[in-house]
Amino acid sequence: MIPITAPALSVLTLCERRAWLDTHAEQPDDGPLTLSVEWAGRGPAMLEEHRAADWAGAVEQTRRWMRQGAACIYGACFELHVPLDLSDRVYTIRARIDRLMRVEHVGRVCYAPVLLREPMAADEADRGVLDLWVWILAALDGSPPPAETWLGVDALGRARRRLPHDYDETRVLDALTRAADVLNRPDAPAVRLIEACKTCPHQIACHAIAREDGALELLYGVSRRVREGLRAAGFCSLAEVAAARVDELQMVKGIGPATAPVIHANARAWLTGRPVRLRPAPDVCCSGGWMFDLETLERRGQIVPWCMGWCDVSGRAQIALIGPVQTPEVLALPGGQQVTLAPDSDSLWEIFAAAVDDGRPIFHWSGYDAAILRATAPPAIQAVLDPRLQDLHRHFTRSISLPLRSTSIKAVSTYLGYPWPGYNEWFAAYLDYRYWLDSGAIDALERACLYQRADVESMAWVWRWWMVTDGAPDLNPEA
Ligand code: SF4
Repeated sequence: MIPITAPALSVLTLCERRAWLDTHAEQPDDGPLTLSVEWAGRGPAMLEEHRAADWAGAVEQTRRWMRQGAACIYGACFELHVPLDLSDRVYTIRARIDRLMRVEHVGRVCYAPVLLREPMAADEADRGVLDLWVWILAALDGSPPPAETWLGVDALGRARRRLPHDYDETRVLDALTRAADVLNRPDAPAVRLIEACKTCPHQIACHAIAREDGALELLYGVSRRVREGLRAAGFCSLAEVAAARVDELQMVKGIGPATAPVIHANARAWLTGRPVRLRPAPDVCCSGGWMFDLETLERRGQIVPWCMGWCDVSGRAQIALIGPVQTPEVLALPGGQQVTLAPDSDSLWEIFAAAVDDGRPIFHWSGYDAAILRATAPPAIQAVLDPRLQDLHRHFTRSISLPLRSTSIKAVSTYLGYPWPGYNEWFAAYLDYRYWLDSGAIDALERACLYQRADVESMAWVWRWWMVTDGAPDLNPEA
């Protein structure tokens, strides 16, 4: 019988298939396992470690320390064998508790579980994990102990905030019954592409299955309600959507004259595995111009830019960012990229406006950069730059449909062959930037600038592919 664990319950809140695949892929917690214990009066310096050869040994060691009155056990292991439904099946439930503390609660001594989290917020899955821990301890001890989530926990185990847990037995029994049903099915549940797929380790395999099945979930920008409408109207696969006439798709609730051709083109793109052209590139895009992107941070409740990047259509990037200077200064990075340091965000805008002062269009990807210009640039700069802004993402996605589930610049440009360098995480770039400010580490600044450069170079790459293929009969990405 597959054991039901807290990680499986957490994943089950996201995707039944992932919970099934994770649980069947490996037998969790088979060992060896390391537990540690703290004894009252000796302090954490006397933390004692034990290495159990397997799960059963770790469970036995946990119970032994509890009988001996340990003050705190880290990585405590428990296992229960219980029926969960009306059948005569007995299920195995396992828990490995982050921190188990000996406390006095309503006049008696008991062991209270604590969930340790680095972030400052807990979610639904965390609540399910604590429910399970309390439920197991209550089954062993006769009544539910108090429980807490510790948030913002540092390397020394100190919490910035402690949240008492509101235990709900019905909730945990519902979750366990559902887990028993899903995890003991002979086959994995069907693929259902959702937001959580983006960070799932099974993403590639599930995506391949969805493509093979021609799943409607692959259609870009189509809501669940519209997908259900398509199915109800008899369009159950990408092939059926592609075979329909555009005006037939418009009969489905939620699909209008503007969206029907886009959905139709996207179904064809998925079926052929190639870009599909909806309409020629608009004139404003054909003359070229500047590619522009910015990075922001929050300061005193306001979002302001800390870095800007821009390049011409050939991809020669320039970067400016806020640094520890009184007036703008040019800094050469070891890799050769020159960066202009500016004292504040107004100065950043001025540097950018001066560099692109030729009246040509300024392309950006999605509406964010334009919104930040309107919210943070000095009025005189806004008046000059705002009329020149063109949303390349909007123009491109109205003209070309790609077999992709995302139209982020990373997804689109790498599909079209751009070799994205370094990481693709705005937050990683921000952390590197902060690290450079604190330490002066030039390699950290170089990584942050590489990210900014990739953002604008990739737009120029997409633009060039678009202009080369616009009007060509074949829209092969290699073209
Ligand atoms: S990729 Fe998506 S459907 Fe597949 S297991 Fe992960 S979350 Fe579930």
